[in-house]
Amino acid sequence: MKRKIRVGLDFDGVVAYNPFRIVRAPWAFFKSRILGIRKLTFFYPKTNFSKFIWKLMHDSSIFPAKGKNLLMDLVNNDLIEVHLVSGRFSFLDDHLYSWLDRYGMRKIFKSINWNRKDKQPHKFKEELIRNKKIEIFVEDNWDIVEYLGESNKNYGKRVKIFWIYNLVDRLRKYEYKYPYLEKALEAIIKEQ
Ligand SMILES: [Mg+2]
Repeated sequence: MKRKIRVGLDFDGVVAYNPFRIVRAPWAFFKSRILGIRKLTFFYPKTNFSKFIWKLMHDSSIFPAKGKNLLMDLVNNDLIEVHLVSGRFSFLDDHLYSWLDRYGMRKIFKSINWNRKDKQPHKFKEELIRNKKIEIFVEDNWDIVEYLGESNKNYGKRVKIFWIYNLVDRLRKYEYKYPYLEKALEAIIKEQ
């Protein structure tokens, strides 16, 4: 029998399709080129009003990404073990569970991890990848892909970071880039 590959999946933009992803790339560009902010930090909403807006934006992750069925098949056939690693801040956790239940997806995950201590999302994911001994991590945020790739260079084990790109940054060259979850999963199976 083939060995199961330990896969980590980001939630927004990977497991769930989020139309707001298209907005994020120009924002990242604006932040680094125009404002000159190089350090990787994520905005954390502090006021109730900004939390409300943030929730609205995340509620737009309405649909499971293309690849949901293949994901379920691979798990049910014991080919992969999947860990959900969401950088979402703690005040969004109830939404995450109800979303997974709505699409009958809660049970396919070996573990469900969200950012309950409100750490910076890239740091949170870095820790989880190591704790869960994840071999392939699928992420849609290019800044996080880049960060994790760098951090893995100093880490003994080989972890591959797969990137789900979007319309705006599709031209960026990267070895493991895919348009949506299904294509990433097909590539993961070839890794076996
Ligand atoms: Mg994401």
